[in-house]
Amino acid sequence: MATTEIPTGTAPEAAAAAPSPVPEAVATARAAFDRGVTRPIAWRRAQLEALLTLLEEGEDRLLAALATDVGKPRLEGWTTDLGVTASEVALLAKNVGKWAKPRRAGLPLTAMPGKARIQPEPLGTVLIIAPWNYPVQLLLEPLAAALAAGNACVVKPSELAPATSAVLTDLLRTHLDDAVQVVEGGPEVATELLEQRWDHIFFTGSTRIGRVVAEAAAKHLTPVTLELGGKSPAIVHKSANLEVAARRIAWGKFLNAGQTCIAPDYVLVDESVQDELVDHIRTAVADFYGEVPKTSEDYARIVNARHFDRLSGLLADGGTPAVGGQTDADERYIAPTVLVDVPDDATIMEEEIFGPLLPVLPITSVADAIDRVNARPKPLALYVFAADDDAVDAVLERTSSGGVCVNHTLVHITPPELPFGGVGDSGQGRYHGQSGFDTFSNLKSVLRKPSRPDPALMYPPYTDTKEKIIRKAI
Ligand code: NAD
Repeated sequence: MATTEIPTGTAPEAAAAAPSPVPEAVATARAAFDRGVTRPIAWRRAQLEALLTLLEEGEDRLLAALATDVGKPRLEGWTTDLGVTASEVALLAKNVGKWAKPRRAGLPLTAMPGKARIQPEPLGTVLIIAPWNYPVQLLLEPLAAALAAGNACVVKPSELAPATSAVLTDLLRTHLDDAVQVVEGGPEVATELLEQRWDHIFFTGSTRIGRVVAEAAAKHLTPVTLELGGKSPAIVHKSANLEVAARRIAWGKFLNAGQTCIAPDYVLVDESVQDELVDHIRTAVADFYGEVPKTSEDYARIVNARHFDRLSGLLADGGTPAVGGQTDADERYIAPTVLVDVPDDATIMEEEIFGPLLPVLPITSVADAIDRVNARPKPLALYVFAADDDAVDAVLERTSSGGVCVNHTLVHITPPELPFGGVGDSGQGRYHGQSGFDTFSNLKSVLRKPSRPDPALMYPPYTDTKEKIIRKAI
């Protein structure tokens, strides 16, 4: 594979003088697609197998890089970044032959005789831009889906996880075909990439940059998948098992120090059980990370000083810490924190938190919770904890979100037959399993007709008799 890149850590003048890697990467990927390299199922399967080898052989280097970038505990790195990716890639490898086959479609009387098929075809050369928080999974899973669908790809890892970006770049260049090009870099490189003409853009990141991507894509009318963020609520009904709800909320929130797109952002809890829930979360945090989470090997760090400062600002005016609240700038450590008495106008309730701060707000009823959720942009995930099915059904029917998990957090992302994505401000488009294959395919409709018979019914001259027959047939 081509090895052009902007070296990280280079002096600005030198970086400015270095030629951009973008044109060559795009030209190489596009040429591979145009030569038909990526179309055969055998090639697609071989690339997916190569991705599996990459994950296996690169495991130690990737886990070390994840620890360097975000202090990711080894087991978290394996399960949430490498392990899930490997099972998604294996699923695509197993099913690519089946999913790539033409799919039968029914025919109305008016179109008979004939054969209708949906024939998936690759879109062409696609751009994939990834974030830093699960930098392996969120780069390689879309890449695997794009390759399974027969596309050439240019991928850009996040510059905010530089160690992982460097290892991924090296591994992809070693293991994959030239039809996959990696370009490292930050906003300038991303901007230059977005100026190119693509057949699809798959972006994972913030809603703010998602808008930038959608605007750039509109210029060439390029279809986009936007996997974005937002404030995902957890509603706790008084009928819930509070001890289990607390544990599952604490796990989903404090995994990766809250830097998870589908982490519960805030809790809406029935006011009659708020204190009990908070007590259970306090116990869960102590069980998970000990009395001093800073010393736990199982608790991650904030990705960089800018995000640490942003989160410290949210903590300062975000209510009263009922759990945690401690910070250490040198280590970019923020304790697992639960905030109560959160002021209505607190900034923490305006933007996605994306860190280990959990506002807990009292509600008076399920209807109150629903109104509060609906007063905000549609979230990526919504969690509802309740034993009362009527409460669950009311939330399901009267709110909109990318996905829902009842009585747990995060795990709805794992079944490959559940398409993953957002709605409204939290994104558009879906992937995982066959939905990912379909996202990167043109599902071309093909109707094959025999030359005979060739009835004159549809052709001019139109007559009353023809009209009568047509009106009956349609
Ligand atoms: P980000 O939007 O800052 O960056 C994402 C990617 O966009 C990076 O590769 C970055 O280099 C690139 N980028 C930066 N400026 C750009 C520009 N002007 N034009 C084009 N690309 C640009 O997001 P982040 O901080 O890396 O990730 C955190 C956000 O991503 C959170 O909002 C989180 O909820 C969201 N997220 C969503 C999902 C999902 O699956 N829906 C998964 C993970 C993270």
